[in-house]
Amino acid sequence: MVTTDCLFCRIVAGEIPATLVRETETTLAFRDISPKAPVHVLVIPKEHYVDVAALAQGDPKLMSEVLETAAVVAETEGLLGDGFRLMFNTGAYAGQEVFHVHAHVLGGAPLGPMIS
Ligand code: 5GP
Ligand code: ZN
Repeated sequence: MVTTDCLFCRIVAGEIPATLVRETETTLAFRDISPKAPVHVLVIPKEHYVDVAALAQGDPKLMSEVLETAAVVAETEGLLGDGFRLMFNTGAYAGQEVFHVHAHVLGGAPLGPMIS
């Protein structure tokens, strides 16, 4: 289901521009508008789920497709050698601001400890 008041559903629908990195039948990867690392790509399912818990429980196959796209993005962005961070902020306490599940793929420089 596409929800018209969801920012990332609107990116899926082509209503808001984004710099696409990879697209599959069920997933989309695009560059974060405010990158926190030299490589910062967001990977989403095209279908709307609010967070990773809802996606993993609601559609495990789609969850695995999001992870597969994230891994391919890490490879094509040249991150497999040095490593990268794959992160799902889940809920307001964790800093989730867009409530359409998205994996952050971060890398390209040493990232330091996750919580500082
Ligand atoms: P969250 O805090 O929800 O885990 O992450 C949301 C991410 O979405 C942030 O890193 C933010 O920079 C990114 N973001 C917010 N609005 C847009 C947008 O319109 N386009 C793109 N490409 N990224 C966005
Ligand atoms: Zn959405």
